[in-house]
Amino acid sequence: MYFTNDLSHSERQSELASYGFTCHCPSCEHATPEADGLRKQYKGLAQTYLLILNWVAKVNPKPKESTIEPVRRLYEGMRKEGLTYAPQYRGLVMMLGKFL
Ligand SMILES: [Zn+2]
Repeated sequence: MYFTNDLSHSERQSELASYGFTCHCPSCEHATPEADGLRKQYKGLAQTYLLILNWVAKVNPKPKESTIEPVRRLYEGMRKEGLTYAPQYRGLVMMLGKFL
């Protein structure tokens, strides 16, 4: 489901039910509270992380692992949840690439 990135599993299913459709994509089949939480938070988190890392990259090209870790976790979470087509995901990939 490409148009409802930030809806929880139950919100997606009830939206689709109005079309008489049940989604069986991996994200819907394996929905968890964590996955729902990620969908609610990834836009805000990505924006915050990208702002911080953009600044960090200017002053310290080799930041501590603990600075990068939450960003990598968000990136992994989005990848697992199939949100790789979201612009925020591309932003995280590009930002993490600067620190490799
Ligand atoms: Zn689905």
